[in-house]
Amino acid sequence: MNQKPFYAMSWEEVLRAGEARQTLVSSGGYLVCSRDRMFNEKDAMYLWRADIDNALFKGFDVPEANVKFTGTVVPKNIVAAGKEEKKSLVLNRKGKPFSWSFSAKADYDTCGGMYACKRFFCTAVDQQSEAMRDGNIKHKALELNIKDQKPLPANLAFALKYCDAFRKIGGKLEAEREITFDRGLKPVSWFAKDAWGRCKIDVLVRKGDTAVIVDWKSGKQKDDVEQVKLNAAFLAKLDPSINRFIGKYVWLKNDCVSGVEISRDEALEVWDRTMITLDEMEECWRTEEFRNRPSGLCGWCPAAPDCPDRR
Ligand code: SF4
Repeated sequence: MNQKPFYAMSWEEVLRAGEARQTLVSSGGYLVCSRDRMFNEKDAMYLWRADIDNALFKGFDVPEANVKFTGTVVPKNIVAAGKEEKKSLVLNRKGKPFSWSFSAKADYDTCGGMYACKRFFCTAVDQQSEAMRDGNIKHKALELNIKDQKPLPANLAFALKYCDAFRKIGGKLEAEREITFDRGLKPVSWFAKDAWGRCKIDVLVRKGDTAVIVDWKSGKQKDDVEQVKLNAAFLAKLDPSINRFIGKYVWLKNDCVSGVEISRDEALEVWDRTMITLDEMEECWRTEEFRNRPSGLCGWCPAAPDCPDRR
């Protein structure tokens, strides 16, 4: 087993260890290769670079060669071994550093310009539609029922069967469970200055090595299960004892449930795939360059009035 911190290895050392199929673990705890696990150069490169970026961000010293090699996330004026990096971070127009959640990534996946308008230049007017307000009221009522068994309002009475079913599973039941990581995947509070990745799980039941992850949905029913899978990935990173993730969407308009079940390995793969997009998002944030992707969603985009690419 290689005992050296991953970020302290040169890329050549990583390659040599990979060729020899030594047990190699990134600083974030990801098994890069071993006698039983193939070395994948592309994945290893991504993890190694992420490790270096994290190390620099935290003010750890890294070898000179690695400092030169990196440049994905770390602003140029960060000092490798110092604590001066905070003031040199690229901040948005509200003075906040880069952070992300499922919805921020979804905005970025839709269009870089839309994402930037909402989260970097902060020019989008924060308007709550009637549907959003209604969704928030329903979420709150369901949260209070899960937490304190408070009666549901008449228009949500049908949803009591779902709340009861989650209670009946046994194990640890939580409503509005927040998971927030700093860059090193250390859990921090939701509003911590170094909060980097956030997820909120509407209902979480943990029993043995299984987690049931529930998301209340008040909008139109869809087949997409990405959000619940990303919630599973957050949980997998938080708690190594969970091996099975059962994701459920409860569609309040249609009074029905859909979902997906994934293993720990699948949840970790979701995380790794997400990190590839995250790398791109951070690079756009750092360079302040966001690519427009016109689509049928332009009509709902807050940047549309000033966007030359609007469809
Ligand atoms: S109007 Fe369309 S292309 Fe322009 S920023 Fe919005 S979504 Fe992107």
